[in-house]
Amino acid sequence: MKVVTTLEDLRHARAALPGPVGLVPTMGYLHEGHVSLARRARAECASVAASIFVNPTQFGPSEDLASYPRDLPRDLALLEAVGVDLVWTPPPEVVYPAGFQTWVTVNEVTQHLEGAQRPTHFRGVTTVVAKLFNAFRPDRAYFGQKDAQQVVVIKQMARDLNFAVAIVVCPTVREHDGLAMSSRNAYLDPAQRAAAPVLFHALSAAATAYAAGERDAEILRELMAGIIDAEALARRQYVSCADPETLQELYGPIQRALLSMAVYIGKTRLIDNLVLGDM
Ligand code: AMP
Repeated sequence: MKVVTTLEDLRHARAALPGPVGLVPTMGYLHEGHVSLARRARAECASVAASIFVNPTQFGPSEDLASYPRDLPRDLALLEAVGVDLVWTPPPEVVYPAGFQTWVTVNEVTQHLEGAQRPTHFRGVTTVVAKLFNAFRPDRAYFGQKDAQQVVVIKQMARDLNFAVAIVVCPTVREHDGLAMSSRNAYLDPAQRAAAPVLFHALSAAATAYAAGERDAEILRELMAGIIDAEALARRQYVSCADPETLQELYGPIQRALLSMAVYIGKTRLIDNLVLGDM
């Protein structure tokens, strides 16, 4: 496995990779969710590349950029074990050199859900992912359903900017008690960790109600909100029942829907989602 930091070394190493090339973009501190993306890429592509970069521009001014967990040696060992061929671990100044002033923004699907709470987040995501697509020229790029809106936004960007890359969406990997794996779970103390599956419990309760015939978006939202609010350590930021493509909030009877939420457990902000109806 080749590990490079400069753009020049990345371009040389990329040119030597047989295609198709699969790319797995990450911010590091890898867990089984990230590893599942790399494994899928390994199964589907002749070459697998990954990036480990804590992207400063997708963090808001009061968010956790400085404290975001990092463990590069462990991350590299995990990627090597999956059979990844190439890893780019650029320092921030390689991605954002002095004088950087070009941004990629997606207008509409960034307005809702995470974008409504984190106004500069997706501009950072789409800018860095566009740069990764330009640098790696991947044939396929692997993203997790865990970040459902990110998938919608990146698909839109790839379509609008003619990136010749297939966006592959991989299922959310969960702990045994349902908590979606996340690098941010490392922030939770034992009591908070015990409370954190409440997001999955709320989503599951709504999915059960839907399976039993409930179709009213507001009732599903209220059901989820009630379960979150009953957990003393949880503070709900939003719960949503939205159109899976436009991400607009739904009212009245639904067929397909993206259920999603952001919940604070102490200072840690967790997100999770589930799709109702046919994917
Ligand atoms: P991050 O390092 O948090 O930026 O995540 C890198 C990629 O891994 C993104 O495409 C995420 O959606 C994906 N990912 C993160 N957590 C999970 C999970 N629990 N299951 C599946 N994919 C995940």
